[in-house]
Amino acid sequence: MNTDLIIVGAGAAGLMAGAVAGEAGIAALILERRHRPGLKLLLCGNNRCNISHSGTAADMIKAYGEPVGSFLRDALAFFPPQQLRSWFAAAGMPTSLNRDRIYPKTEKADDVLYCFTDRLRDTGVPLTFNCPVNRISVDPAGGFIVNCDRVSLRSRMVLIAPGGVSYPKTGSVGDGQRLAGELGHSILPYRAGLAGMDVADAWLTPAAATVEAALPYVRLQLSSDGQGIASIEGNVLCSRACLRGSAIFDTTRIIARQNLRNCAITMDLFPTQSPAGLETKITALAPRCDGRLASLVIQLGIDDALSDGLAAALGGNSALRKQDFAAELAARLKAMPITMTAVRPLKEAIVTVGGVSLDDIDPATMESKRVPGLFFAGEVMDIDGPTGGYNLHAAFATAQLAMQAIKKRCSNTVVPARNRGQTETDEQDDSKAKPPVNDARRAPKQRPEQRTEHTGRAERPERQERQRRNKRSAADKRSRPTAPSHSEAPWWARGKRDSGKRQG
Ligand SMILES: Cc1cc2nc3c(=O)[nH]c(=O)nc-3n(C[C@H](O)[C@H](O)[C@H](O)COP(=O)(O)OP(=O)(O)OC[C@H]3O[C@@H](n4cnc5c(N)ncnc54)[C@H](O)[C@@H]3O)c2cc1C
Repeated sequence: MNTDLIIVGAGAAGLMAGAVAGEAGIAALILERRHRPGLKLLLCGNNRCNISHSGTAADMIKAYGEPVGSFLRDALAFFPPQQLRSWFAAAGMPTSLNRDRIYPKTEKADDVLYCFTDRLRDTGVPLTFNCPVNRISVDPAGGFIVNCDRVSLRSRMVLIAPGGVSYPKTGSVGDGQRLAGELGHSILPYRAGLAGMDVADAWLTPAAATVEAALPYVRLQLSSDGQGIASIEGNVLCSRACLRGSAIFDTTRIIARQNLRNCAITMDLFPTQSPAGLETKITALAPRCDGRLASLVIQLGIDDALSDGLAAALGGNSALRKQDFAAELAARLKAMPITMTAVRPLKEAIVTVGGVSLDDIDPATMESKRVPGLFFAGEVMDIDGPTGGYNLHAAFATAQLAMQAIKKRCSNTVVPARNRGQTETDEQDDSKAKPPVNDARRAPKQRPEQRTEHTGRAERPERQERQRRNKRSAADKRSRPTAPSHSEAPWWARGKRDSGKRQG
């Protein structure tokens, strides 16, 4: 056996799992398909990285909705937002709240990645790049055989964390789902979650727009087959090509998650104002707009780039000459119909809906129900959340929970190499797990050669090796220059000068 744990993928979930493995002293190795870790992580939140959302585990479960919320119950209870903040703070990356969203204090996605790579370096967890895992098979002698393009490795356990299928250039191309499928797991069809939307409404996609026009806060009402489905608040960004922004993304996620057909959407452009309040405002502003509806629309606070188109959609200047124009305009501005023609393709989506079926995974441990010793974390599973940090939180929390279960297996099976085959059979079932080391009262009667496994003597070389490693790491730190020159610094530290410095 080469190692206790192979982690497939160095994205949000894989890096978190690797960091926890390092802290626990587990012999783990991360294999990454691309030449760099965390490429998608670096794109998150427009490079500011919205890592989580404030609230309790119960709030989060509600926000994910079903079936994701129930599946994540244990992961969120084990690693709620407050715990996530403490974990990152202890790892040298304090966080801050921006409204209810959690970001690194520096609001730099790079710092989230440095936090992980520093942690892996300090705890000696190897991270191998250009190493796509293309086959995982169960080794009849126990554990797994993991095949990459050029090497094959054997590991007692495997954690699959290669992400979804959106933004394939970041490395997430569906390998994890294929690997899981080959091992007998059901894979649910992919759909684009948190994606942009094509619409037929010319006022929302102005041909003249050179930059995105913004509607900072609107409310969308989504219905399907005539039935009200959801009310979604947030911003909308309008470009020549399509609509984006949190309100649009959250709407397309609901459409994908609930597989909705025949959708109708209306937009309330002034959700904080009542129809009567808006009518009063329009009546007050109308005399100042020289009979031009576009001018009135601008005075109401709509982006200049959208004003001509919106005025035309509302009936043009003649709409101002109607007797009840203020009441009519107020009613229309609070329920503008949006004609969605398509959801943007999956490769442009923020998150993938679909993936490894949740029915095949134990939500208490993230272990496969089909292949003992095989674990999952992150977007490779059929999990997704709304905008606001929920997707990264899910990746981090599922990695943490999986590592809890993996840690227990490792502490139960500290055995000399020659006996590992026997132990692996046992570890496939928690109920058969060996008693804790040195627990003489609970230890079953053992043959003499087995007893050495649990006396602490067999454990010593491993403990000594860990102590040696810690000493080496401390010596390394002492001898390391505090600020490597730009050319000496690894690529991820360039521009940062000294990743060690951030460790204090
Ligand atoms: C533009 C953008 C912005 C986003 N912003 C946010 C945000 O602000 N907040 C938020 O919560 N979520 C955000 N998300 C979603 C979030 O990034 C993902 O949900 C999250 O990264 C999923 O983590 P993961 O570890 O499961 O997968 P990933 O982060 O995709 O990592 C998977 C890793 O596995 C590697 N891999 C793939 N196949 C193999 C293989 N065969 N062998 C070895 N390695 C492999 C990949 O190269 C990749 O490095 C954003 C997504 C995008 C695209």
